Amino acid sequence: MDPTTQRRDSIETIFSPAQIAERVTALAGEIAAKKLENLLVVAVLKGSFVFAADLIRAMHTNGMAPEVEFMTLSSYRKGQVSSGQVSIARDLEGDVEGRNVLLVDDILESGRTLAFAKDLLAARGAASVLTCVLLDKPVKRAVTIKADFKAFDCPNVFVVGYGMDAGHRFRELPFVGRLVRPV
Ligand code: 5GP
Ligand code: MG
Repeated sequence: MDPTTQRRDSIETIFSPAQIAERVTALAGEIAAKKLENLLVVAVLKGSFVFAADLIRAMHTNGMAPEVEFMTLSSYRKGQVSSGQVSIARDLEGDVEGRNVLLVDDILESGRTLAFAKDLLAARGAASVLTCVLLDKPVKRAVTIKADFKAFDCPNVFVVGYGMDAGHRFRELPFVGRLVRPV
């Protein structure tokens, strides 16, 4: 068996490329309907980069012209378990004061990452901070936060693909899948 086949075999598709594309298009429509002026999209790296790339292009299709920035947050994750502490590994380059911000992340799980980012941007004077996630995993929520926009509710399993990794692998997969055996 070649390495590619081996890799594919250990991952079971949860959300296919077509399902993702359909939800991303719908989300962009929902976001456009809010008519947010002077919108700044802040993608939380690394996991959200593929989702954010598709979302901003769908936003364009819906007549929007957001600016885009990136912020890398680290949650001192050991393997697949979150420790609870969030810190800024790479900050935004620009100012958010007075801006309507849309925070884009891959997964809302304990909620600590997104709550941290939301509080930070609000404290820096953003006019509003809305949140948009690809996946919502509500089972392990530790802080009270709800995404303003979400593509899918996700089962409580460790997922990879569509930008999301396990040990730096699998970000390139065009679907969201679950690891069905250790790799
Ligand atoms: P939270 O702070 O909400 O607990 O953690 C959310 C972050 O943990 C996500 O942005 C993501 O980076 C990571 N994470 C949570 N669950 C998973 C998962 O199933 N797969 C991957 N690859 N990352 C996850
Ligand atoms: Mg993340």
